[in-house]
Parts: sequence; structure tokens; C-alpha cells
Amino acid sequence: MRVHIIWLTLSPKCHMTVSISKKIAVGVLGLVVAGVAASQENAVNVYSGRHYQTDEALYAGFTKATGIKVNRIEAGEDAIIERIRNEGARSPADVMITVDAGRLWRAEQAGLFQPVKSATLEKRIPESLRHPEGRWFGFSTRARVIAYNKARVKPGEITSYEGLAEPKGNGRVCMRSSTNVYNLSLMGALIDHLGEARAEAWAKGVHANLAQEPKGGDTDQLKAVAAGLCDVTVSNQYYYARLARSSKPDEKQVAAGLGIVFPNQASWGTHVNISGAGVLKHAPHRDAAVKFLEYLASDEAQRYFADGNNEWPVVRDVKVDNAVLNALGDFKADRLNVAVLGRNQPTSQKIYDRVAWK
Ligand code: FE
Repeated sequence: MRVHIIWLTLSPKCHMTVSISKKIAVGVLGLVVAGVAASQENAVNVYSGRHYQTDEALYAGFTKATGIKVNRIEAGEDAIIERIRNEGARSPADVMITVDAGRLWRAEQAGLFQPVKSATLEKRIPESLRHPEGRWFGFSTRARVIAYNKARVKPGEITSYEGLAEPKGNGRVCMRSSTNVYNLSLMGALIDHLGEARAEAWAKGVHANLAQEPKGGDTDQLKAVAAGLCDVTVSNQYYYARLARSSKPDEKQVAAGLGIVFPNQASWGTHVNISGAGVLKHAPHRDAAVKFLEYLASDEAQRYFADGNNEWPVVRDVKVDNAVLNALGDFKADRLNVAVLGRNQPTSQKIYDRVAWK
């Protein structure tokens, strides 16, 4: 009998258990099932579209603080949404982490999240950086800054997004594709602040100023500006910070040639976005999932989460030790609730399409 018990414990999923006498099977299987259930209860399944080394420390920190194991599934930012959608009600996913409120909105539209009420999250995360009904929460912020070529643009020459659309910018602007979620979210903010007609006039003006057809990502735009292919662009600040902190001399040199402006300091503030997470509708470990989100809002996790991608914590007073970000200084951020960026996304794409911004 002892032999059977050892064998069963080592192979809990083996179908051969049926050949064992009923009495032994029930007794031993009971133990095995209870064991599996207990370990499942003490786990949280996190699906993440982020892949940063500091995330390791983040997950280890959560397990240390709570005893709850973190099982990770990583995939591309859009692929993770597709995967959860395809898994449907049988999905083992408890939490989804991804970047950009526009992408969280897509997951929300697909019905993937459930609302979470948490005094901790509501207290620690500013209202503008979380979903009004708690379907997702921002855990770090990024700003869409203007980067310019220091040899070709004088400091103070461009101070706002609106400036990118002015006639003096003709042939001097590089921008990535309008289908990219960062530019869709930026347009979402412009629609809210300027109204649809002026936002479209802006898109038309910027498109007319392009030095080249939109291609590549934010880093490609920064490199194009540094190389003198164009004079200005917009980029999330962490792409600049990555170049500035790079160990490769050529990348460091790209950053050294760039000036960074926080746009719209004299008006509505610089457009900001988030990396965020929400609890999934069919989460098998709902309580652990909420605890995980609350942990992400802790001082310790905020530092890991933000600094892993050269972003800023959402919790006020938590500072990251990031010389590049600190050198950029403080700025006035747009106070618009980032949920609006997603809500405006269909209109944003229509505007870009109407002005033929690819
Ligand atoms: Fe990015």
C-alpha cells in the first residue's frame, strides 16, 4: 500500500489510478486533490504584456509579502488580449497587465475585466489614472514628450503639441503611424481638449509637416531626429531614457543630440498614459488577484514597476532612483481621466484616416 501512495503522490494526474482498489484510490486521491486545490488557492495567474527584468523582483516581492505564488504568462501586448478572449470562461488568468489606457480600453470593450472595489487602490492611485468603475488601474505613468534636434531647434522654439502643426514646421516633423495606440491615445486627449474639429485641423497640419511617411516605432523617430532627417517628433519618454541609459555609445549619442520638452505646460499639460492592470472576469483566484493589484500600489512595487521601464510611479511621493528621469524634472501632467483616451479611440482613428495619416 505504501508503494501505491508514493507512486500516486508523484504522479497525481496519472490515469492509472483507476486500477487501484477503490478504498485506496479514494483515500489517496482525496489527499492529492486537496493538495492541488490548496496550491491553486495560494497562487495568482498573471498574464502580462510587459517584459522587464525588474518584474521578476516585483513578483518575488509579492510572494514574499503574501505567500501567494505568481504564475506568469507573457505574450505580446495585443496577443495577450486575444489569448484571454479565446480562453473565455475557462481562462485561468486572474490579472492582465499591459501598457496604454487605449489598450486596456480594448480589453475592457472585449468584456475581459470585472470591477474591483478597493480602498487601498482608490486611496493610492490618482482618480485620473484608473477606470471610474475599477475595471483597471494605472500603476506607472509615461508622458508623450516632444523631442527635438538640439543643433537645429532653439530651446523654446516648440512648446506645445499644437506647435507641431504650425506652418513653420513644414518638412521638419517625424511621426509614427496613426494606427499605433500611443498616437491614438494622444489624439483622444486632443479631441477632449480642442474639440473634434480643431483636433482634425491639428492632424491635418502635422501630416502636412511630415518630413517622411510614418514608419517605425518611437525609437526610430528619435533616431531620425538625431540624424537630422527631421527636427522634431513625439515619443514616450522611456524610449529616450533607454537610449540615454544605454551601454552602447551610438545609442547614448542619439540621446545626447536630443532636447526634450514637456508640451503644453502653459495650457492643459503634457499628455500622460499608463501601464496598468485589471482583474479578469473569470479569475479563479479573485481575492489573490485583488491583493496582487494592491501590492502593485505599494511603495516597494511602485519603484520596481515604474523604474523597470523608465516610467514614473503613480503613487505620489514614491521616487525612483533614475538619473535620466530626474534630470528631465517635474512637469504639469494632463489631468484628463485616461479612460477618455480609449473612449475617443474610434473617433481618433477616423480623424487620422480623414487626413490620410497612415
Ligand atoms: Fe512602448
